[in-house]
Amino acid sequence: CGIVGYIGGRQAAPILLDGLQKLEYRGYDSAGIAVIQDGAIELQKKTGKLIELRKQMNDRLPESTVGIGHTRWATHGRPSDANAHPHLDCSGRFAVVHNGIIENYFTLREWLIAQGHVFRSETDTEVLPHLIEEFYMGDLVETMQRVLKKVDGSYAAVVLSLDEPNQLVAARHDSPLIVGLGEGEYFLASDIPALLAHTRQTYILEDGEIAVLTREGAQVLNRTGQPVDKKIFTVKWEA
Ligand code: GLU
Repeated sequence: CGIVGYIGGRQAAPILLDGLQKLEYRGYDSAGIAVIQDGAIELQKKTGKLIELRKQMNDRLPESTVGIGHTRWATHGRPSDANAHPHLDCSGRFAVVHNGIIENYFTLREWLIAQGHVFRSETDTEVLPHLIEEFYMGDLVETMQRVLKKVDGSYAAVVLSLDEPNQLVAARHDSPLIVGLGEGEYFLASDIPALLAHTRQTYILEDGEIAVLTREGAQVLNRTGQPVDKKIFTVKWEA
């Protein structure tokens, strides 16, 4: 029910956890984060309140400066550690957080299983990392465009990839997602309160748009992959 993402020069984990805390009002049953650490995707997820995830991480937060986080409101699959986000593909190269519902997940899941994919959760979301793994040919943005054409339903989703560790790729359709613009650091969040400690400059993503965040900038692409000339929305109100 809440999404955060960070790429920049600072340690990602505390920023992700604090951002998720700011989204607590949206309600959730489990929480998790994924970062890239020592050449692998490190995943931490836990049923319950954020404090349970913090306890599991035991103050030994990874040093990584890129990552994604999620608070879940279960729609498909009970609240459990395995069903908590982020979700990985088989090879552990792609981590995905998702808010919303993939309506045609059952058909996609059956097809992916026939292709040899092994699922670890009962969620609709898990089809996303497996579809990305199935279609990845070296360009995550292109892969996302292809995957999203196959998916029906609502989503705000962010992908972290080991092959392209210096970017986050995000997409939305019928679920909110906002880009926060810092200096040499960029953020993603379901709602503005999660960004306010860091920046007031934002892009509000529209349906069908894909955002690509690096440490150098944030670019927004439309359905056909053309860059969109986004207007910066400056948040004026106080948290
Ligand atoms: N449908 C997904 C699930 O049940 C995402 C739920 C959410 O928006 O938190 O895992």
